Amino acid sequence: MNFVKLFTDYKIDFNTRVNRGWTNVTCPFCDDKTFNGGFNDAGDYFHCWKCGGHDFKEALTRVVNISFNEVDILIEQYAGRNSLLNKLNKKQAKAIQLTLPTNTFTPAERKYLKQRNFSPKLLHEKYKIVGGGITGAWKYRIIIPLILDGKIVSWTGRSILSKQKIDELKIPRYKNLSIEQSVIDPKSILYNLDNCMSKTAVLTEGAFDVMRLGDGFFCSFGTELTQAQIIEIKNRFSKVFIMFDNEVEAQIKARKFGLQIASMGVDVEIVDAYGDFDKNDGGELTESEVQIIRKELGLNAC
Ligand SMILES: [Zn+2]
Repeated sequence: MNFVKLFTDYKIDFNTRVNRGWTNVTCPFCDDKTFNGGFNDAGDYFHCWKCGGHDFKEALTRVVNISFNEVDILIEQYAGRNSLLNKLNKKQAKAIQLTLPTNTFTPAERKYLKQRNFSPKLLHEKYKIVGGGITGAWKYRIIIPLILDGKIVSWTGRSILSKQKIDELKIPRYKNLSIEQSVIDPKSILYNLDNCMSKTAVLTEGAFDVMRLGDGFFCSFGTELTQAQIIEIKNRFSKVFIMFDNEVEAQIKARKFGLQIASMGVDVEIVDAYGDFDKNDGGELTESEVQIIRKELGLNAC
């Protein structure tokens, strides 16, 4: 949607530089004084960096100050050119709603999780994790949905095959849903944000680290961060611990992105919590070690 033209026509202050791919206004749902309310340029999605997600049409009626009956006409009126140009120029999230490939696990998928000390049932309930099944594009993978404001907006699938088998088949260990198939570009947000509601949070390397360590932990599915993700971190948190895997490459990335996040005014601390327990990543931690780390970082037990 062409929010720039819409807000210009209606003389509403906006800012397109807060977050790439979003047009921001003062949020009409909270006491926001700046530009925390973002309309996603690619789709019908509204998210406030202070108070969370809201119904897109309601956000639009409040911001533009029109009635609910008029909003569909307005959307139609300002759709088109801008979004069409964007679509021609770059890959964009196009999906409106996502349905997971299955809603359960095969015995092999269950075994994969249990061997890593995870309860398939708990992961399914809390993180909407499912298996990919034995046929189709997501076969032999654990599907890890990327969720924002309770809605599945993309996912990645972790292979359950052995390292040897993965190399033999030349398939990726993690396979991502494409940008076009996603509701939101997965490189613009972070994993587990819905469970990071305090101003302090911990950035880990992988989604399994996050699921092992619980609320207050988030990740970007790897050691890379995009500019949009760094801005997202700045908007949400005042203190961030970076806890990447215990290997040289990962620690170099932790320092690099730590400096970038700190330069935006966030208090950043790089921690070597795994090394303290002689472990390499979150997957290797026991439950009591998890609780010790949570306590040391000032997070509540969970
Ligand atoms: Zn708000």
